[in-house]
Amino acid sequence: MLAKRSITLLGANLLFAAISLELVLRPDLGVAVYPFFGALALWTDFRREAELPFIFTFLASLVGILVAVRCPHAAQKAAVMVEVGGLWALDWGISLYRNRDLADQRDALAKRLALDAGIRDDERDSKYYQAYQETVGGQIRLRRDLAETARAFGRITDSREVYRRLVDILSQRFPEARVSVLADAAADPLVVLAARRQGPVLVKDCAVQEWPAGAPACGCGMALAVKVMRQPAGYLKLEAARPGAFAPDDLRTADLFATMAALSLENIQLYEHVHQAAVHDPLTQLFSHRAFEARLREELLRAGRGQTPLSFILCDVDHFKSYNDRYGHQAGDQLLRTLAAIIAAFARPVDFPARYGGEEFCLILPNMAHAEAVALAESMRRRVGEEPFVFQGNKTGATMSFGVSSFPADATTASQIVRIADERLYQAKNAGRDRVVG
Ligand code: GH3
Ligand code: MG
Ligand code: MG
Repeated sequence: MLAKRSITLLGANLLFAAISLELVLRPDLGVAVYPFFGALALWTDFRREAELPFIFTFLASLVGILVAVRCPHAAQKAAVMVEVGGLWALDWGISLYRNRDLADQRDALAKRLALDAGIRDDERDSKYYQAYQETVGGQIRLRRDLAETARAFGRITDSREVYRRLVDILSQRFPEARVSVLADAAADPLVVLAARRQGPVLVKDCAVQEWPAGAPACGCGMALAVKVMRQPAGYLKLEAARPGAFAPDDLRTADLFATMAALSLENIQLYEHVHQAAVHDPLTQLFSHRAFEARLREELLRAGRGQTPLSFILCDVDHFKSYNDRYGHQAGDQLLRTLAAIIAAFARPVDFPARYGGEEFCLILPNMAHAEAVALAESMRRRVGEEPFVFQGNKTGATMSFGVSSFPADATTASQIVRIADERLYQAKNAGRDRVVG
């Protein structure tokens, strides 16, 4: 099959040859036939042949001149020459039109290229902003989660709850991961790595990275220590079946959340420490005087509401000053610790043994009637008297005096019940010490 251009060339050449032949054979028809060259020029131009119309015009001009020479009449000669001129004018018009058309096309092309470049720029910008938005969005989400986590951790007062919450948060952030907390490093190869390196560990692919021989297979894993007061309090482990599931950024994120958990654990420890110090006496580990006062008010309220008895024992070491003077302050401290342990051993789980002051102890006895409390005090007194109190190999000895008061028989308020027990203790001292007054 002939190509479109070949058809045009062949057709135009045949037409040109036919017109030329006709003109050569019949120059007298020149005026009528010559304009067909114009039609031929228009047709070739219409077929988008850029050079052909001009070649034909040039050749047609030669043919025109030849025809004009051979025309018998002067008027015909002149008419043919005018037609030749017309053909040139047509060519000029065509070229003018084409040039303008070309210029328009070039303009349109330039505009399209500029537009394409603009679109490409916009697309690149949009991709950049999308990526930027994702990064910034990720950071905003992370910060929001961290702030929420900080608030949540701030409300927790139980260490186990902190670990539970940490596991929950990380499980939500890393849905692919199995998150766990281990108490010590020895149990897990990944955690052993973290402990050995003393820092967070990311194993992207257990199959290719260092992985202890014989350890259970894992795809990808992270491990880090949750450090409380700079010491590992536990180890956090995240495992995923897919190698490469975690990136270094994920390790940083997990570390951030673990650090927040660690801060919360530190706060809990500090709080417990402060609470312990406020509630317990450091020497004897019995409850402190402050804790005793609060507890006595509570127990009296409960006894009043429940119409149940409550007794109170106040006791004091006899001649403790002399004991200190004779054996030394350290021996005195040791004696106080031993006595505290004896008193605590007599206390039921509901009772409240406390160090009332210097060498004075007390015991709140909920739901115990007066006679029973006096008997208990008597047992305690005997028990103290039997204790050898050995200090640095030397046998010492100590006795105690006791005052007992009860609700509702003796008093109804905390201050009254303490005052009456104190008065009875004073009586016991005056009566010769090492006795119970109830
Ligand atoms: P009494 O039989 O009348 O109670 O005589 P006492 O010597 O026990 O009583 P006093 O109130 O004169 O002395 C109490 C002593 O207890 C004085 C103080 O140095 C001593 N003491 C108080 N707290 C402590 C302590 O924590 N450790 C030691 N080693 N001694 C203490
Ligand atoms: Mg004393
Ligand atoms: Mg005293």
